[in-house]
Amino acid sequence: MTKQQTYDPNSHLAPEIIERGLSEARQALAVTGLPWQPATHPSSRSLLWLYQGWDWHLIYVRITTDDATFTGVGEKPRVLAELSREMHSRLDAVVRVHLGADGEVQHIGFPNLMPKLLYMARDWNRRMLDGKTALEHLKLAGDKPAILTVRPVYNPDWHKPKTDEELITSFRAEYRQPPTEMPDVREGESEDAFVNRRLAGFRAYPERPAHGHFVLKLAADGLPESDLSVNIAALAASTTWNDSYDILTCSCGSSGCAGTGGMPVTHESRLTVWWLSLEGTRRFLVFDRQQYRTEVFTKIREALRFHATLPPEVRFGDIMFNEGPAAQREWVEAALVEAENFERW
Ligand SMILES: [Zn+2]
Repeated sequence: MTKQQTYDPNSHLAPEIIERGLSEARQALAVTGLPWQPATHPSSRSLLWLYQGWDWHLIYVRITTDDATFTGVGEKPRVLAELSREMHSRLDAVVRVHLGADGEVQHIGFPNLMPKLLYMARDWNRRMLDGKTALEHLKLAGDKPAILTVRPVYNPDWHKPKTDEELITSFRAEYRQPPTEMPDVREGESEDAFVNRRLAGFRAYPERPAHGHFVLKLAADGLPESDLSVNIAALAASTTWNDSYDILTCSCGSSGCAGTGGMPVTHESRLTVWWLSLEGTRRFLVFDRQQYRTEVFTKIREALRFHATLPPEVRFGDIMFNEGPAAQREWVEAALVEAENFERW
C-alpha cells in the first residue's frame, strides 16, 4: 500500500477527471438523501461538504486511475484534516473512486460509510418532522397530499399617486376613527383643520411614481391565507435539501421579523413536508414531491418570463432587501438553476 501523505493526493489529476470522480461519488452518496455539495477550498477541488443539523460534514474523494497500485481508500489527506479542524466538522471521511481505462468505475470505502450517513439522515429528518416519518404525516393528513399552487399576482396600479379627492376622503375617515396605536389628531383639532394639516404634510413629501407590484402567492389545502411575503429564491431552494427555509416571511426577508421562524422542509419517501408556524399554530403540510418541484419550477420560470414583459421598475416579488428588480431577478434565477440541477450530476 502506497502511503499518501501529500497535501492533496488528487492534485496531479486533470480537472475533468476530478469532476468525473466527484460526480460519481455524489451519485453513490445520493441514496442517503443527504445533499453533498462540492466544497470550495482554494487548495483542493476534491472535497464534498454537507451542512446539516448545525454541523459541517466533510468527505474527501480520492480519485485513482488505472495505474494506481494500492488498495483501500488510503490515508487521510492533510487538506481534509486541516479543513476539518478549521471548520470543527462533525464527520470527516475518505472515499475512493477508481476510474478504470475500460470505463469501469469502482467505489471504495462507501459501504463502511453508508450506514453512518443513513443514520445521520434519519436522525435529522426525525427532528425536522417532529419525531415522525413523512409517511406517518401523510397518514395523519388522510393519505391525501396537499396540492401546492404558485400564482403570480400583478397589480399595475400599486403606488399610483392618489388624487386630492382620494386623500381628503381617507383623512376624513382617519379623523373619525383615529388609529389607536399612533393617534395623529391633535387635541381640540377640528376635522377640517386636521384634513388641511395632513394634506400640507403630504405635499411636502412627493409620492413615488406608480411602479406596479408583482408577487407570487402560494395556496394549498391547510395553508392559511396571509399577507406574508414569499421569498421566491428560498421557495426554489426548498426543493433541494432538507433544511429550514424562510419561504413565508417579512418583506425585509427576515422570518424572525415575520414571527414565522425558518420553516423546516423535509423530502422523504417521495414526499415534501413543511413544518409550518403561522398565526400561533404549528402544523404539517404534506406534498407530493414531484408535484411540488414541478409547480415551483414551472411557475417561477413562467413568472420570470411574464415579469420580463413588465416595465423595468417593477420588482420581482416582494422581498425588499436587494438592489432593485434586476438584482432581484438574478438572485432568483441563480437559486432556480441551482435547484433544477440539484439531482443532475
Ligand atoms: Zn421585517
